Amino acid sequence: MAELPTSASVVIIGGGVMGLSTAYHLARAGVADVVLVERDTLGSGSTCKAAGGVRAQFSDPVNILLGQRSLRAYERFAVELGQELDLQRSGYLFLLDDPDHVAAFEDNVALQTSLGVPSRMISPAEAKALSPMVELDGILAAAWSPEDGHCTPESVVLGYAGGARRAGARIVQHCAVTGIDVVDGQVRGVLTEAGPIATDTVVCAAGAWSRAVGEMVGVELPVEPVRRQILTTEPMPGLDPATPFTIDFATSLYFHLEGPGLLLGMSDPDERPGFELGRTDAWLPRLGEAIERRVPALADVGIASGWAGLYEMTPDHNALVGEADGVSRFLYATGFSGHGFLMGPAIGEVLRDLVLGRTPPVDVAGLSVDRFGSGVRPELNIV
Ligand SMILES: Cc1cc2nc3c(=O)[nH]c(=O)nc-3n(C[C@H](O)[C@H](O)[C@H](O)COP(=O)(O)OP(=O)(O)OC[C@H]3O[C@@H](n4cnc5c(N)ncnc54)[C@H](O)[C@@H]3O)c2cc1C
Repeated sequence: MAELPTSASVVIIGGGVMGLSTAYHLARAGVADVVLVERDTLGSGSTCKAAGGVRAQFSDPVNILLGQRSLRAYERFAVELGQELDLQRSGYLFLLDDPDHVAAFEDNVALQTSLGVPSRMISPAEAKALSPMVELDGILAAAWSPEDGHCTPESVVLGYAGGARRAGARIVQHCAVTGIDVVDGQVRGVLTEAGPIATDTVVCAAGAWSRAVGEMVGVELPVEPVRRQILTTEPMPGLDPATPFTIDFATSLYFHLEGPGLLLGMSDPDERPGFELGRTDAWLPRLGEAIERRVPALADVGIASGWAGLYEMTPDHNALVGEADGVSRFLYATGFSGHGFLMGPAIGEVLRDLVLGRTPPVDVAGLSVDRFGSGVRPELNIV
């Protein structure tokens, strides 16, 4: 563990994509004495468990803008941060077999294109031409955006960590935050396993563990951990290198190219909230059925490896981003409900501006934790 600083202008709790992007953007803006504290190693939470999908195809304007701005940042990342990302702009293809889903995606595409996203509805035959392994049984239409894609989470972690350090931020690993000292409604410091850090500003970027951090200052952050699993296949000779990130929306089965094979995943509706991270077989029969129907060519391919990670779910599947009212100053960026990797760059800029009292590049007022009870509509386009 690096030596613990005794004071900081801002303490960021959590060394995933959100915390690291925030540290980088704050330090690059000239903020001195930024300290990020991670209880394990950088990226060890959900970030390095992500499938790496990056997209702007959402149903909510704020999510579209955050996704779009982050795509631009991931395009520049290798040059700006000196770290290759293996960014594959192979597009995202949503396969739709339910008339209600088709109608909803038509509305989403209209909204996305009004905001400059080059998405469009395409026919089943066009979808098959883009993703040749899919079986079209029951498919009515598909939504497609060629600018979406996927990249490598570990590289994003390395890039932002290096960039943040070069700009002067301090990163302390293997050091859990155990409490936050608040006096008369003002943050005075952060308590860690290795000792206290005096500060008046805390950013919670603790992912699936954020509820406990919010409790340290009496702020309820409604984030629930839910396990998700991923498998990678043995090499599959003859794979089309242009294969998009393909999603069978009704079952949530998805796959994309990963080295010489595929990475695939699917949600498990029986999974209950909890911090359990062991791999289980309970989801495999349902996964097998979805594969048999939609990608039968995959049924006989060997599995090379797999892992489990945590989605950080909120009641409406939208993120929580903002500054708490009741305590000064406690900011939060969490609850990305399974699509935080793709929003990390833009959220780092937003947090920088909220800390500095500037107007952020995307208006995130609707993502305040105060929204619950006000009947906001949920993000529908999560996988
Ligand atoms: C299987 C899977 C697939 C996914 N696929 C995608 C995808 O394709 N695209 C996409 O956009 N998103 C995807 N996601 C979601 C994405 O991984 C998350 O939304 C994102 O990584 C959240 O980043 P974060 O920085 O908020 O949290 P995390 O990466 O979880 O970081 C939080 C960190 O806080 C630390 N921490 C917690 N409490 C404390 C404490 N008290 N003191 C110090 N440190 C603490 C943790 O150790 C952790 O490292 C996927 C997630 C999973 C599980």
